[in-house]
Amino acid sequence: MTEARFMEGLVQEEGLIFERSREGKRAFSLPEPDVPVRGLSEIVPGDLLREEIEDFPEVSEVDVVRHFTRLSTWNYGIDTGYYPLGSCTMKYNPKVNEDMSRLPGFAHSHPYQGDELSQGALRVMFELAEFLAEIGGMAKVSLAPAAGAHGELTGTAIIRAFHAKNGNPRSKIIVPDSAHGTNPASTSRCGYEPIEIRSNEHGCADAHAVAALMTDDVAGIMLTNPNTLGIFEENLREIAEIVHAKGGLVYCDGANLNAVMGIARFGDMGVDVMHFNLHKTFSTPHGGGGPGCGPVGVVEKLAPFLPLPTIERDPDGFHLNYNLPDSIGQIISFYGNFGVMVKAYSWIRSLGPEGIKAVTENAVINANYIRQRLKKHYHLPYDRLCKHECVFSDAKQLPNGVNTMDIAKRLIDYGMHPPTNYFPLIVHDAIMVEPTESEDKASIDRFIDAMIAIANEAQTTPDLVKSAPHKTKLSRLDEVQAARRPVLRWKPGE
Ligand SMILES: *Cc1c(COP(=O)(O)O)cnc(C)c1O
Repeated sequence: MTEARFMEGLVQEEGLIFERSREGKRAFSLPEPDVPVRGLSEIVPGDLLREEIEDFPEVSEVDVVRHFTRLSTWNYGIDTGYYPLGSCTMKYNPKVNEDMSRLPGFAHSHPYQGDELSQGALRVMFELAEFLAEIGGMAKVSLAPAAGAHGELTGTAIIRAFHAKNGNPRSKIIVPDSAHGTNPASTSRCGYEPIEIRSNEHGCADAHAVAALMTDDVAGIMLTNPNTLGIFEENLREIAEIVHAKGGLVYCDGANLNAVMGIARFGDMGVDVMHFNLHKTFSTPHGGGGPGCGPVGVVEKLAPFLPLPTIERDPDGFHLNYNLPDSIGQIISFYGNFGVMVKAYSWIRSLGPEGIKAVTENAVINANYIRQRLKKHYHLPYDRLCKHECVFSDAKQLPNGVNTMDIAKRLIDYGMHPPTNYFPLIVHDAIMVEPTESEDKASIDRFIDAMIAIANEAQTTPDLVKSAPHKTKLSRLDEVQAARRPVLRWKPGE
């Protein structure tokens, strides 16, 4: 029972709302209405009405408010602190961009409003697509996909449509082992067989390996750049030539564009299709299941296959174009997640070309600073200049019985969110750190100091690390059990 649990200082412990239930408690008390009362069943169709909910909690208003307010303080987010989750770009985004997306003219516009009443919104989308095309070196961009993986699916469908139009969709796509996990998944979902190539000793896709596999049956290659090791795919141009020579296409996963934008463009390296993650690089927070946007950019010859609708400009203004005979079709309701687009537009406009470039420079220097200072303390499998993130492992701590999970949990005691663990798969027991551009040196130094302290603890007091976290309400949870046997319904007495 909640009352029996202790509060510690002002950090409140919190049970389930069901445990607060007392028979007869009500969350509101209004005077008797002086107008006729209509029952719920008169308003809501019967088949949508639920029967009595078993064990529905009976609680007061203050119970409800305290319960949910306390729970909300248990969240850890980028506004709370440092969040070096590799491959996720958990960076701070200026609040002004949120403000812009909430301007009433944007927030209240309706997708059925018609082009003539949506000129402002269409202009934002049109110009955003142009900015992204410029940043990626692409001919045309569609903003429709709702996520990075959705962008990959869209881009692969475009590749398939292109090959099919030329008489043979082909059956395979090459995917390096350093590509993001969604890459092979998206290619298979589109009916292609992903064929894996192993990275070379520098952590890069190898041009010879591609050449050996590239046949007339291979639709192309899908690679992630920078790859999941945080390393720039330096053979990309050469690989693109090999793939193109056999009629294949090159897809580049640009989810981690905060490592290259403003400095280099994939279009200039022979890439035919790419996607962007607006909910990473372009001012929408990543994670939390919120709406995302994974625009897809293509070269000129693939533009006819883009999803519907495209946004066009003519002398009368902007309009949605549904007349694209070779299009892969509509991939989302309406035009995608507009609020995310406004934030990206606002962010790009406020930074300008110099600011975009500075973002990349800061993201890269931050990651390299960490790499350089931590490599004495943690095994660094690919010790070379990285882009926006770097990947360590637990190899130096394992002899003392301390593994990646222990290190991650211990970092929580130091007040920080752990890095990504056990990904990418090509590094055994990976610890993947992405500081992002929004952290200053003081906060990065705090992280490095904590990591060094943990490395020392792993030698002197390994049990302390292995049993971490110690400063959280709950210590180590059984994650396997939580995933395999989730208890989603509370029953009294259980
Ligand atoms: C995050 C990420 C994705 C997937 O993006 P979602 O929006 O989560 O679907 C794909 N590729 C790379 C390289 C990523 O970092």
